[in-house]
Amino acid sequence: MLTVHCFTYNPFQENTYLLINEKKECIIIDAGCYFENERKEFLEYINENGLSPVGLLNTHCHLDHIFGNKLAARTWKLELEIHPLEQPVLDAAPQFGLMYNIPFEPSPPPARFLEDGQQIVWGADRLEVILAPGHSPGSVCFFCREQAFIISGDVLFHESIGRSDLPGGDPNVLLRSIRQRLYVLDDNVQVYPGHGPETTIGHEKKHNPFVKG
Ligand SMILES: [Zn+2]
Ligand SMILES: [Zn+2]
Repeated sequence: MLTVHCFTYNPFQENTYLLINEKKECIIIDAGCYFENERKEFLEYINENGLSPVGLLNTHCHLDHIFGNKLAARTWKLELEIHPLEQPVLDAAPQFGLMYNIPFEPSPPPARFLEDGQQIVWGADRLEVILAPGHSPGSVCFFCREQAFIISGDVLFHESIGRSDLPGGDPNVLLRSIRQRLYVLDDNVQVYPGHGPETTIGHEKKHNPFVKG
């Protein structure tokens, strides 16, 4: 049984997630802590709750989702896992940091690559990797079928969708990903997005103005 904990971090108001199991092991998804107080809060939350991070994943590698990768990797000896199509995005991130004037500690390179359909199993729980490109070329979502929730990254938001005008983005590919990979899930599936409040697949199918028909 997993508990989802969300922090909202950095100038982009990015959602960083911890998935915590009953043994207090957790997986970190999209470590976005940037400012010193955010980094401190992140470390303190994990320490004070007696959590043991066992995994470090990225839905994709835009800079707002990777600011804390190095800190997490270093602190808990974690190895990063991303989809291979995100490697160029990860490589380009420090350059964007300079461009936006938000320099950051570069992420460690990935130790392993994720693939579509892969099951990430730890303890009694598992997550399914769903490739959903369009916002970025190797965007993945992490779907927990047993508990009906999905960490959707910047693909699908509450009544909105990810932008598709960044390098490697494509609006048609993004819409196809949402329709063919996310809207096929049950209406009751809880969606935890990379920005903004949580939602459900059913709510978005009804009310999302960007995905029609
Ligand atoms: Zn993004
Ligand atoms: Zn983002």
